[in-house]
Amino acid sequence: MYDLIVIGTGPGGYHAAIRAAQLGLKTAAIEAGDVGGVCLNVGCIPTKALLHAAETLEQARKAAEFGLVYAEPERDLGKMGRWRDKVVKKLTGGVANLLKGNGVELIRGFARFKGPHRLEVDGSEFEAKKIIIATGSRPATIPGFEPDGENVLTSTEMLRVERGVPGRLLVIGGGVIGLEFASIYSRLGSRVTVVEYTQQILPGSDPELVKLLARSLKKQGVTVKTSTRAVGYEPLEDGLRVTLEPAAGGDAETLEADRILLAVGRTPVSEGLGLDAAGVKTDERGFIPTSESMETNVPGVYAIGDVTRPPLLAHKAMKEGLVAAEHAAGRPAAFDQQIPAVVYTQPEFASVGMTEAEAREKGIEVAVGRFPMSASGRALTLQQTEGMVKVIADAANDLLLGVHILGPGASDLIAEAALALEMAATAEDLALTIHPHPTLSENLMEAAENLHGRAIHILNKR
Ligand code: FAD
Repeated sequence: MYDLIVIGTGPGGYHAAIRAAQLGLKTAAIEAGDVGGVCLNVGCIPTKALLHAAETLEQARKAAEFGLVYAEPERDLGKMGRWRDKVVKKLTGGVANLLKGNGVELIRGFARFKGPHRLEVDGSEFEAKKIIIATGSRPATIPGFEPDGENVLTSTEMLRVERGVPGRLLVIGGGVIGLEFASIYSRLGSRVTVVEYTQQILPGSDPELVKLLARSLKKQGVTVKTSTRAVGYEPLEDGLRVTLEPAAGGDAETLEADRILLAVGRTPVSEGLGLDAAGVKTDERGFIPTSESMETNVPGVYAIGDVTRPPLLAHKAMKEGLVAAEHAAGRPAAFDQQIPAVVYTQPEFASVGMTEAEAREKGIEVAVGRFPMSASGRALTLQQTEGMVKVIADAANDLLLGVHILGPGASDLIAEAALALEMAATAEDLALTIHPHPTLSENLMEAAENLHGRAIHILNKR
């Protein structure tokens, strides 16, 4: 009998298992696929490795501006793929070692509930006082575009750059995954079109910054079609003919492509787990609802990560894993934090807290500060002057409500904003903090100063 069994070793599952073992629980983790889950094997890590490779190509081209002229780099896609795999293997091997080093028993196979405390894995049964479901998510599909590994691919197959770079790539879905792949493949030479059903790419994100990002993507040669629905495709002798319709209805148009990436979101992996045998309920979309302590409707059975609710992000899964493990070990624990989000496009887009629109919808009178990357000395030295920092505060008490960054280093800078929000900082706190010069972090400070009409490196509108 284990104290705790975790199903799945993605970022949520391995965090939960390690923390439970640290707290002295006799812990096992069951994995049907590869240790590290989607994030390490076919998500966060391999995409970022390829984005870095593609971006390096672009940097080599841009270096001509300051007098370093490289010959057009030779692209060895096989080697790029092997490098991606090397990065992934190092990290997944590291996680396997951490599980072992912390005394977590790793059981290989597909787990199914036989009761609230009992699991079956390939004919063997295991019992645990508590169980954490961390089974993650899989790519969602839409009618007319069934992934076939040839014409229509999911993100998992699209990671295999060694298959070749399509001349014309159609990306269905202008969310995070769609845009990251659009960035990779346009840098590697594809003509990319992104089709998005809603009115803007990155639905829900700050429209002002999204507009700037859309402009940057256009400059990079990526065509973005919003308010457009992809309805079907037919193979041609040389490529595919895709039919698109305005989302609001109207005349259809066609577009030719060599490959289609389906990036229309992800579905929770909650089917086939035998949840009924444990009495665990799911909602109409298949997500497993939980309390703030990550406990499902069945006491002692927890759910964490992508299988619980959006946003489907690794760091959310990790934090939920820690909360569930702490609670299972009898400690008070709850998930009540801000969740930053990053899109690793070029420029990067990162945000935490409320958008201006969300704050206004809640009836809050907002004060907004902005600072453009074009006014940043550091951004200029990096040849990356597109984007801006936008800081939102409550006009009544100056408390920070949200920070949105489009520009270089956004993925790292957003952590300062997340800390500020967690500590209930004011815009004044951000503005008064000395930020080193010349850095991109100064832009956060200047946006907060601008909120009070006092930024130094731009003219403040009164
Ligand atoms: P998963 O990582 O999905 O892991 C679940 C694990 O459970 C899998 O290993 C699976 O094999 C196993 N499993 C499932 N069912 C069973 C069973 N019955 N028995 C045993 N094992 C089972 N997020 C970010 O925060 N940053 C990023 O940059 C980022 N980039 C991404 C890029 C792509 C292309 C994709 C697809 C996703 C990306 N994500 C990113 C999202 C991130 O990968 C997920 O949010 C994260 O992996 C969720 O972690 P998880 O632990 O909930 O589940």
